[in-house]
Amino acid sequence: MNASWVRIPELLDASGSRIAELCEAPAARIVPGASAAIALGVAACIAGRNGDLGERLPEVSGAARGLVMQRGHRYKYARCALLAGAKLIEVGSEGHTSAKELADALDGSVAAILHPAHLDGVDGSLPLADVAEVAGKVGIPVVVDAAYLSYPTELISSFMTAGADLVCFSAKYFHGPNAGGFLLGREDLVEAVRDNDFTGYESGEHLTFGRPFKLDRITIVATQLALENWLTMDHEARWEAYAARVEEMQNQLADVPGLTSAARQFTLDERVIEGDVNALAVSLERLDPDSAAAELAAGEPPIICVPVADQLIFAVETIDPSEDHLIVERLKSVSGGGR
Ligand SMILES: *Cc1c(COP(=O)(O)O)cnc(C)c1O
Repeated sequence: MNASWVRIPELLDASGSRIAELCEAPAARIVPGASAAIALGVAACIAGRNGDLGERLPEVSGAARGLVMQRGHRYKYARCALLAGAKLIEVGSEGHTSAKELADALDGSVAAILHPAHLDGVDGSLPLADVAEVAGKVGIPVVVDAAYLSYPTELISSFMTAGADLVCFSAKYFHGPNAGGFLLGREDLVEAVRDNDFTGYESGEHLTFGRPFKLDRITIVATQLALENWLTMDHEARWEAYAARVEEMQNQLADVPGLTSAARQFTLDERVIEGDVNALAVSLERLDPDSAAAELAAGEPPIICVPVADQLIFAVETIDPSEDHLIVERLKSVSGGGR
């Protein structure tokens, strides 16, 4: 793919138009992952299309660079917004944020609000629609981190509908390239992302902030194709296939002494729940889960699973079906029941 020298700015514009159309958004742009989307999106909110200001990022003292977040929304990717020079302003308290507290915080020093969508409404926090309503009154953009909220696929367009101005997604969650992602958003803000991304550093008027967030053609094309596949695939069949594989593994493990198994769902926020099945959960009498996981990881080939409470979790979504049998065989031997 890197042997076809299509111009990257044209490829980014074309893939962005296509993704905007697919996701029913005014505009879109591929970026190298959701954390880059957050950094570039917040950079766009601070600098807009002002190239001189963009060139100063992240050192923009004097400019509006406040990034408002609700206190209940503390999470690890907020750090990526600060890369752009934003200054964190927390509003509300641990268990509550009111619309008035949010409105009072939105003064002239604020560039954007960051809203992690997977934490929507938690802990007495204001849901996105309420945040967008307050922010809309004073024209402050709301940047939504929806990194893994691309399934069910109807979710993808829901954040713009709820009033978001920019929405960040990671391709790692829709079977795309690990280094891919995209932003959906308002046209002017997506244009500001383009102004500040890596493409203009050598050829444009300004030394852009986004130069280290570089993409190659492979990632751009693969991100768009993975999204197109994701939006058209039969997801019911995808889940049925996971359940069938887990059932087959359970059958093969049924008579192994000292081992019990269950069919479970391992969620994207790493909880084990009942529901549509995508994971094999195993308990071993002989070993606690951490020791068993270490033993499996130390073997050949290494088998990496997630110990959760008293179980080992094998999420089949990330395992090639042709390798399920390797897991079964190794579980037989570590359980002490194999040969
Ligand atoms: C994984 C993740 C990110 C970062 O996405 P990358 O594409 O890996 O940069 C951001 N936010 C959330 C909630 C995530 O789970």
